[in-house]
Amino acid sequence: MLAIRDLAAGITGRRILNGINLEVGSGEVHAVMGPNGSGKSTLAHVVMGRPGYEVLGGSVTIDGVELLGEPTWRRAQAGLFLALQYPIEVPGVSLEEAMEEAVAAGGGERRSVPAAVTREATRIGLDERILARALNVDLSGGEKKRNETLQLGVLRPKFALLDEIDSGLDVDALRAVARRVEEATEEFGLGVLAITHYSRLLRELRPDVIHVLSQGRIVDSGGPEMAEELERTGYAAYGTTDGQEPSPGPAPAEADPFADPLA
Ligand code: ADP
Ligand code: MG
Repeated sequence: MLAIRDLAAGITGRRILNGINLEVGSGEVHAVMGPNGSGKSTLAHVVMGRPGYEVLGGSVTIDGVELLGEPTWRRAQAGLFLALQYPIEVPGVSLEEAMEEAVAAGGGERRSVPAAVTREATRIGLDERILARALNVDLSGGEKKRNETLQLGVLRPKFALLDEIDSGLDVDALRAVARRVEEATEEFGLGVLAITHYSRLLRELRPDVIHVLSQGRIVDSGGPEMAEELERTGYAAYGTTDGQEPSPGPAPAEADPFADPLA
């Protein structure tokens, strides 16, 4: 069980998350929807331990073990995985090298990695030639998202946070990615927190629960039928104005290891 309790967090001088409560069980899929700027990426980043955020209260546990305060790599070892909204490029490091290090750090067999990478690439239709390149370097937006999904398949985490894994994907890639994640929920009991704007992701990756995030709070939760409804009606019913907020602009790039290099 991934349990997020009363999580409050922000950046210096600004509170972004105002007490988030979520419980994701193994094999469950929870979708988080909400307007731009409501705090969806912040939630994913704070749970994974991205530097630069201040945790103001609450807890994040896997099977009762507290993760807040642990560095990101320890949270990964505890079974947490984050697919970034904007995957970073890592020049000089191949996907296979990165996966070998990650698998070894998790106590797995380094030599199992090449076969696993090839297998996962085939499952999501990622060209093998891409695998020899430096991690994410010169990949299209869609290829990067497939690459994140491939890594999830190789690492087999307990819980995955997917931050708009569907953005930039064409219909075929979207189906392949959604299907792979759905299969992971049965294959190795993956629990999923999927941040998305679109119900089409959720046609293949079937959510058990949909949550609406607005102004750093879960303001509604319901069944899978809510996704199509929200897509049709928007978030006006929640009286939210997140989308109209002026953006304070991006954080300084040099201090931010997860920054979108294209932003
Ligand atoms: P979402 O993913 O729901 O669109 P975010 O979590 O990215 O929203 O952002 C929530 C709010 O917090 C936005 O107003 C955003 O500009 C602000 N924010 C998030 N991260 C930072 C940061 N590192 N520096 C400044 N503002 C930030
Ligand atoms: Mg976001």
